[in-house]
Amino acid sequence: ARKPGASLQLSGISLSFGGVKALSDVSLRAEPSSLLAIIGPNGAGKSTLLNVISGIYRPDRGEIGLDEHRFRSIRPEKLASAGVARTFQNLALFSGLSVVDNILQGLAHRRETSLLGEVFGLRRARHESASQLQQAQAVMNFFGLDAVASRLTTSLSYGMQKRVELARALVAHPRLLLLDEPMAGMTLADKQQLSELIREIRRHFGTTILLIEHDIAVVMSLSDRVVVLEYGRNIATGTPDEIRQNPAVIAAYLGS
Ligand code: ADP
Ligand code: MG
Repeated sequence: ARKPGASLQLSGISLSFGGVKALSDVSLRAEPSSLLAIIGPNGAGKSTLLNVISGIYRPDRGEIGLDEHRFRSIRPEKLASAGVARTFQNLALFSGLSVVDNILQGLAHRRETSLLGEVFGLRRARHESASQLQQAQAVMNFFGLDAVASRLTTSLSYGMQKRVELARALVAHPRLLLLDEPMAGMTLADKQQLSELIREIRRHFGTTILLIEHDIAVVMSLSDRVVVLEYGRNIATGTPDEIRQNPAVIAAYLGS
C-alpha cells in the first residue's frame, strides 16, 4: 500500500537571480513519512529551495520527483491537489478572518466546480461546507485551537498564530508538508509545544516533512536526516549524529 507520506527527490536543482546563484546543483531525497531538515546560514538558499518545490520559482536546471511524478516545476495552484502544503517564513494569515475561517482556506481548493455542481450549487455547497467544517473542527481539536475558533487571528499570541498557520497547512491532510522556520520568534515554551506537535503530526498522519529551522537543538531532536546548505550548495547530508561530526559542517556552520 502507498505510504501516507510522499517521497520527494530533487536532482541537480540550480537557480540564479540575476548574478546571484541562489541554488547550485542541489540534490536531496526525503523518504516517505520521514522528516528531513534543511539548515544553513542566512542566505544559503533554504527558502528559495522551498519556493522551488512549491512552484513559486521555476529552477533553471534540475528535476523534482514527487512520488512517481517528475517535473521541473509545478503550478502553485496544482500544489494542494498534488498533496503538498506549506507554511511561510513570515506569518501569512488573513488578518480579517477568524481562526476557523483561516483554517478553512486550507480546503478552498477542494471546492470543485462542475456542471452538476452548478445546477445543484446550493445543496452541494451546504453539504461540502458541513464536511469542511468537520475537518476544520478535527484539526482545531488536534492543535488545541477549539477555544479560540471564532477569534480573529490578530488577537492571538505569535505562537498561537503560527499554530493556526500549521493547522491550515494540515487541514487537507497533505502528504508532504513544507515548513519554513516555523519556530522563528517563538518563546522556548512555544518551541517545545510546536516540536511536540510536529512529532504528533508524524505519528498521527505519517506526513513527510521538510523542515527549515535555525534552532539546531530542535533540528537534531526532530530529524531523521539533515541537509546542510551553504552558498546554495548542498555541503553535507546525513543523520543528526553524522552532521554533528562532519568537519565541513562544523567549519561552515556549527562552529560559528
Ligand atoms: P535562506 O532562506 O537560506 O536565508 P534565501 O533562499 O532566502 O536564503 O536566499 C538565498 C539567496 O538568494 C540570497 O542571496 C537572497 O538574497 C537571494 N534571493 C532570494 N530570493 C530572491 C529574489 N526573489 N530575487 C533576488 N534574489 C533573491
Ligand atoms: Mg529563509
